[in-house]
Amino acid sequence: MTEKVTSAPVGKLTAVKGMNDLLPPASATVEWFESKVRDLMARFAYRNIRTPIVERTPLFVRGLGEVTDIVEKEMYCFEDRLNGDSLTLRPEATAGVVRAALEHSLLYDGGKRLYYMGPMFRHERPQKGRYRQFDQIGAEALGFSGAEVDAELILMATALWAEIGLTDVRLELNSLGQPPERLAHRQALIAYFEQHLDALDEDARRRLHSNPLRILDTKNPAMQPIVNSAPQLLDFLGEASLAHFNTLKSILDVNGVAYTVNPRLVRGMDYYNLTVFEFTTDRLGSQGTVCAGGRYDYLFEQLGGKPAPAVGWALGVDRVLELAKAAGLVATEPRLDAYAIVTDHAAMPLVLTTLQSLRTAGISVQMHTSTPEGMGSMKSQFKRADASGARFALIFGPDEVKAQQVTIKPLRDATTQQVTQPLATLSTWAPTLQSSF
Ligand code: ATP
Ligand code: MG
Repeated sequence: MTEKVTSAPVGKLTAVKGMNDLLPPASATVEWFESKVRDLMARFAYRNIRTPIVERTPLFVRGLGEVTDIVEKEMYCFEDRLNGDSLTLRPEATAGVVRAALEHSLLYDGGKRLYYMGPMFRHERPQKGRYRQFDQIGAEALGFSGAEVDAELILMATALWAEIGLTDVRLELNSLGQPPERLAHRQALIAYFEQHLDALDEDARRRLHSNPLRILDTKNPAMQPIVNSAPQLLDFLGEASLAHFNTLKSILDVNGVAYTVNPRLVRGMDYYNLTVFEFTTDRLGSQGTVCAGGRYDYLFEQLGGKPAPAVGWALGVDRVLELAKAAGLVATEPRLDAYAIVTDHAAMPLVLTTLQSLRTAGISVQMHTSTPEGMGSMKSQFKRADASGARFALIFGPDEVKAQQVTIKPLRDATTQQVTQPLATLSTWAPTLQSSF
């Protein structure tokens, strides 16, 4: 059974609300950031993984937990039109990474360090720093149980902030302990909130028995006093959980990484245990969390696989770059070495052959393109060459073309002379187009 896809009368075709186009030159900043991240990940020995954008809905329901904001109200779900399967645009990537690790037995020969980059989808109220399609970059260390791996991931994130010039990012830490400790705390929490039912909002009352821990995460200012004096999970941790937390803290201390322990820090997904953390900033208003993560030692089992410990984080690319912009980072478009000026359209075959050789030699070069009115005057072509940011104009005028030559004119440096070079010796003079002056 296939449904007919029709084009309803929509008026102007625009992008879907909360899903943005990323255009040049802003896209250059994202490319720059991604290349910084790739380089960093390589130094920390994390390898790239790419999982599908669409997954089966139960993966997220089972993985993230039924009573979570994401699963309850933020997922883009749709039916596969052929077999009726429920599919979902991924709201996050950890569940997919774990699914892939299980499906391909990635951990058969030991732990794996992985990272991903890509779009996630959540049906939220769009505002600054909160979109319905947004890019995340995430790192996942699968199969490692030691607190030193939690520390490695946090150190990697702090290295990233330093390398892109961010200074005002704060680290908040907490430990959620292990399931029995959480259960004891949960019971204490329910008993406590039951004594203060009047102070709870509707959302909190609904979650009282299904997910009371999430009440601590409320953004309702009226509930802050009641939440502030609620029983703290940290007081319910056993020796092993405390030891894990203390090891992590001491590694961070030795490395000079500042943090605050926030006993109320809980995360939006149910899969976390032991370490949870967030990097936050005051600069982005209420969308202040730029990177968040923690340990999820039970997710493999929850998804039906052999148990394996794991820890990871995800950062919001838009928020990190917004912060970088506030810190004075400006987008730099890729350099352009040369702009080819062509007076006669008939010379195009020669021009294209030459530019092909230059590009093979590593030179970036933009060709002047004709309009229906023709190639345009030399003057207008020079104007475009200037505006392109290229450092040299390559002039293919009538004399040059006839003599199988090109004239190289510096556009940014008045002290350098223009020269005319034979096309036959291109490989010898091409590198000069990259010379900086
Ligand atoms: P928030 O509390 O801001 O809703 P979250 O706890 O839902 O964040 P995670 O699911 O942990 O966020 O995602 C990790 C990071 O991805 C966040 O810290 C944030 O930087 C970014 N992020 C999450 N949701 C969005 C969104 N809708 N638009 C842009 N970035 C987002
Ligand atoms: Mg959220």
